[in-house]
Amino acid sequence: MNIVWFVIDCLRADRLGCYGYHRNTSPHLDRLAAESVRFQQCIGPHIPTQPAHTTMFSGKDVLAHQIVAQGGRQELDPQIRLLSDLLREAGYFTGAVDNMGRWFAPAFEQYVEYPRWNHDGSQPWRNGEQVSERGLALLEAAHQDPRPFFLFLHFWDPHTPYLPPAPFHRMFYGGHERDPGHRSMAPVWQSQWFANYFSEWLEGVTDIEFPKAQYDASIAYSDVCLSHLLNRLWELGHAEDTLLLVTADHGEELDDHGCWFDHHGLYDTNVHVPLLIRFPGGRRTGTVPEMVTLMDLPRTLLTLLGLEAIAEREGMMGRSLLPLIEGNREPAAEGVYLTECTWMRKVGWRTPEWKLIVALEGDIYQKPPVELYYLPEDPGEQRNLATQRPEVVAALRAQMEAWVARRLEETGLPDPSHAQADALRIWQPRFIAGKRD
Ligand SMILES: [Zn+2]
Repeated sequence: MNIVWFVIDCLRADRLGCYGYHRNTSPHLDRLAAESVRFQQCIGPHIPTQPAHTTMFSGKDVLAHQIVAQGGRQELDPQIRLLSDLLREAGYFTGAVDNMGRWFAPAFEQYVEYPRWNHDGSQPWRNGEQVSERGLALLEAAHQDPRPFFLFLHFWDPHTPYLPPAPFHRMFYGGHERDPGHRSMAPVWQSQWFANYFSEWLEGVTDIEFPKAQYDASIAYSDVCLSHLLNRLWELGHAEDTLLLVTADHGEELDDHGCWFDHHGLYDTNVHVPLLIRFPGGRRTGTVPEMVTLMDLPRTLLTLLGLEAIAEREGMMGRSLLPLIEGNREPAAEGVYLTECTWMRKVGWRTPEWKLIVALEGDIYQKPPVELYYLPEDPGEQRNLATQRPEVVAALRAQMEAWVARRLEETGLPDPSHAQADALRIWQPRFIAGKRD
């Protein structure tokens, strides 16, 4: 059985049609979802991109792999092996179209990078086409190879700045985004941290619905680019012998909590990601309501391939999702430990019902040091109950701290959220000073 794993960076679960979104952002993925198992509550526990991908390919948490920040100085311990590397050893052809480099590149037999992308805010992004173009060539190579294949294709279009190309660029917005009568962008322009950056791609924009629509249009563009790869997979006859995964490393904040147009914050906007698994022939369908995490995926795939012994040998922490897929309702883990090292340094604990967020230092958005949300009644996490429900804060905090203490003892390694406290400041000054690279 072959495996093709699509990641769309920054893709919120709730922005896809198959997760109930009212806009038609994802007709191709929705069609795929109808033949797939759809997970309703998949959590990306460690944000941003590099920690998230390291987690979903190693099946380990940040306390084991120590990658907590994007572009930090910390390198991955070569003893921590990624799924692609393990599958290569097990006889798979492995290939990726990606640009994270670092420890991801050597984990694949063929690692195809894109040339440096133009992040000029005045030009539309056409990155998805570059991924699908390279992905088609990689797919051809995989198809010719006698071995089964594992491919990873990393799309980035919904990443800030949202600059979808024509004909997607005004797909979801028919208004006048620079009309002085709008007031909704005023708080965004007051940001001392990001106003420079926003002016590179949103200059003069007064209506906050415009960048939100552009985010959605970028998803629609990714959806079409990805469909080229699906079409070719089907043409080559791989609908019957290939397992497909579609997910995101993390989501995105739009205007939900005043952390505009980036993936800052341990809110569900950022940690609730889509997860579709299409089995060969579309033989299993349905939805899984239980909370699962991206960390569960390597063990699930190895188990499906009859290689569970490898997951055991490597000490993968995630559980196999196969019992849930087969309809055996299992109790969810008591909670999921969350970390963020972006422009904020935070940790959190998410249960199916509650979300606790604890700041490790003051943050640029001046959020409260402790946040508590009751998800069944407040899925948008708008009512912070930390002051009203101190007993819940104390209980969740105790669970989280006990869990971290146990993990520190198990790994014998430092807590990276503290040990790498400076990691996020490496690139902030470059960002504030001018154009982002
Ligand atoms: Zn990312």
